[in-house]
Amino acid sequence: VPPWADPEAQPFLRLDGVSKSFGGFEAVRGVTLDIYRGELFCLLGGSGCGKSTLLRMLAGFETPSAGRVLIDGEDQAGRAPHDRPTNMMFQSYALFPHMSVEKNIAYGLKRDGLPRAEIAARVADILALVQMTPFARRKPDQLSGGQRQRVALARALVKRPKLLLLDEPLGALDRKLREETQFELKKIQAEVGITFVVVTHDQEEAMTLSSRIGVMNAGEIVQVGTPHEIYEQPHSRFVANFIGSVNCIEGRVTGREGGHLRIACPDLGAEVTVESGFEAGAGEKVALALRPEKIAMGRTARPGFENMVTGRVEEVAYMGNLTIFQLRTDGGARLRVTQSNTTRTDADVPRIGENVQLQWTGAAGFVLGA
Ligand code: ATP
Repeated sequence: VPPWADPEAQPFLRLDGVSKSFGGFEAVRGVTLDIYRGELFCLLGGSGCGKSTLLRMLAGFETPSAGRVLIDGEDQAGRAPHDRPTNMMFQSYALFPHMSVEKNIAYGLKRDGLPRAEIAARVADILALVQMTPFARRKPDQLSGGQRQRVALARALVKRPKLLLLDEPLGALDRKLREETQFELKKIQAEVGITFVVVTHDQEEAMTLSSRIGVMNAGEIVQVGTPHEIYEQPHSRFVANFIGSVNCIEGRVTGREGGHLRIACPDLGAEVTVESGFEAGAGEKVALALRPEKIAMGRTARPGFENMVTGRVEEVAYMGNLTIFQLRTDGGARLRVTQSNTTRTDADVPRIGENVQLQWTGAAGFVLGA
């Protein structure tokens, strides 16, 4: 049982109604959140949603206007950054340009007055962990972006904080290196066992890294869950659209049969059935949300699907690993469908102007409120 599902588990980090105003503007609004020891928790949201401000309040660089921050049960009110059991890794890395890699990493330990031999041992260990031992004598400007990122991570880890706060840690890396480094970061976090809170605006990064994700919008945490929960059971249109893409089809509830809700969708020209616990009475306005990869598409209908509509292919985009189709249903709805390119041959690919059958099961979609 993961700690967040265990009612006995004590949170390691507790945010209790935390807000931050700048002048009259509320950048963070009433965030209440528990994070558990050993988690790699991502704060995910678009530009300006308040994620950096929230992280800075954990580090002690900003003072909350309201609410409390507790780390390991202790209220952090009034504590300066260096008096907290936290360390922060900045997007800019903030390495000292005139110091070698090992001196950069040793800096904080020296300042704390640790014995020389212990400093040397800890620096050597952490250099090995981030695979930078051969670069120990180099200066930051003699390193690649990815290597600098590892030095910054090593410097943040070497002080063995209980909580490491990372603001867009991979933001300076190009896409390819970023993707590789995500797995490395995750591996290092598991090895050191330190709780990480990571700020990112990149949904794929959040999906790759996280034990859980807190999705932010306009200063608020709008949903917290595992990557799987956030993708498969978003609670709102905002979250459904922010993580991946989704077809939202407006409709009205016509009734419930056991675990299934029936929804009349005029734009589909059909009544659909969805496996859902969503509580809505007959006549209520809702949306059927369908991920593009959950819709099966073919020239002929196949057995085993509860829902089917006919559509015409309007656009096709070949993306390599998958193909994206824009379709118009007979009822006038626009649908996006993706097909994985693992097994299909070119002859199977529906072309622009073709009519196809679109099918999905009752378990494929989810229901969102109006
Ligand atoms: P980004 O991904 O663009 O960095 P973010 O989600 O990290 O965005 P924050 O940096 O937390 O966003 O900023 C949230 C809001 O608070 C923004 O509208 C920003 O302009 C505002 N803000 C942040 N710091 C200050 C400040 N010191 N004074 C006034 N407004 C601020």
